[in-house]
Amino acid sequence: PVVTRIAPSPTGTMHIGTARTALFNWLFARRHGGQFLLRIEDTDRERSTPEATDTIFQGLKWLGLDHDGEAVSQFDQVPRHAEVAHAMLASGHAYRCFSTQEEIETFREAARQAGTTTLFQSPWRDSDPSDHPDTPSVIRLKAPRDGTTIIADAVQGKVTFRNDQLDDMVLLRSDGTPTYMLAVVVDDHDMGVTHVIRGDDHLNNAARQAQIYDAMGWAQPVWAHIPLIHGADGKKLSKRHGATGVEEYAAMGYPAQALRNYLARLGWSHGDDEFFTDEQARAWFDLEGIGRAPARLDLKKLENLSGQHLSAMPDSDILAAVQDWIARADVPSVDIDRLAPAIPIVKDASRTLPQIVERAHFALVDRPVTPDEKAAKALDPVSRGILSELTPHLQTASWTRDVLEGVVGDLAQSRGLGLGKLAAPLRAALAGRTATPSVFDMMLVLGQDETLLRLQDAVG
Ligand code: GLU
Repeated sequence: PVVTRIAPSPTGTMHIGTARTALFNWLFARRHGGQFLLRIEDTDRERSTPEATDTIFQGLKWLGLDHDGEAVSQFDQVPRHAEVAHAMLASGHAYRCFSTQEEIETFREAARQAGTTTLFQSPWRDSDPSDHPDTPSVIRLKAPRDGTTIIADAVQGKVTFRNDQLDDMVLLRSDGTPTYMLAVVVDDHDMGVTHVIRGDDHLNNAARQAQIYDAMGWAQPVWAHIPLIHGADGKKLSKRHGATGVEEYAAMGYPAQALRNYLARLGWSHGDDEFFTDEQARAWFDLEGIGRAPARLDLKKLENLSGQHLSAMPDSDILAAVQDWIARADVPSVDIDRLAPAIPIVKDASRTLPQIVERAHFALVDRPVTPDEKAAKALDPVSRGILSELTPHLQTASWTRDVLEGVVGDLAQSRGLGLGKLAAPLRAALAGRTATPSVFDMMLVLGQDETLLRLQDAVG
């Protein structure tokens, strides 16, 4: 069975790179009918905060990446980490090192002078326990000094590390707390993680972690280190490129499924497919499709996909997404009952949720509609005259698209005007704006009474 996990450190926002890693792990687990686990790496007590943990929960929830079982707190496992360090000590795969920070520095300085490796070589590695002083010690891994450690990575291929380049890492500090390397391996092993899919900034860590697995006689997971996300300029994504937190994307008004689709394509591909549903992503996701080059964040592409998702979404999902966005973005709420009938006519031309609300302005605004500057210009005296001519025809019209198109078309023709000349003041009167959905769509959504009242207001 496949078991994957996301193991974020709760020290700030939920980075878009973390979201992508979570998505890949989630997709892989779901594709294989496996489990997707969540571990909060909160052993750094100074930097970890409950707020940041909550941000991670919220981010995953918003993205729809449900995890199996309870979230694991790494800090809660500290006794278990210590137990494993002591087991390695007992089996001879680790040793107590009493060297002080000062002694280590002296060693390094001497090595620098001599031009030899500055990787610390502890004098305690092969010492007899009966010689040990009664002073605090760390526990170090007795790492192999010769040969190589090989990471057979599902994305990077075979990556070879020379063991003489890896020092005897500390597993347990003198205060009894585990190092990051030990904690990750013990937790992944105990949680039964079969596939470690994460950013390739952890590739070097994998070599060290592999040595711990080997020392414990545990099977290594499948490693898959994915290239990091870069900004448009090809540099590692940072604040300077704009939004990096998932919650920022939510607040910008991209539906979660659009962000999922976009993040899935960020570093992974399935033929030429750009737009796909969650079901398709779950059916297609594989490690083979992950590229080796860093993916570049491209907001245009995200917006494009977002537009396609909005067109394809059921209206009820869009309404729910709008409400969710409004709550997150801290913008004024809208009357959902008035928005609902407008959704079918605004969703195709909208790429984001705020654009939905913006295009549905005509349905949300109260009479009398105040025209904006352009709309006010479109309601010049001549245009108002045309509108007042139109009104009696609309009063007797039956309220169907065919009839409305006929009525407006006939008037335009009899006045020798293009349809656009008539549409502009109509838009202005109905919506108070000049960029709106089609006038016939708006009239149908507003209904006959409201349409006539708005025309009356505009004609004055
Ligand atoms: N806590 C690590 C991070 O936030 C992830 C460690 C891992 O995935 O192995 O980058």
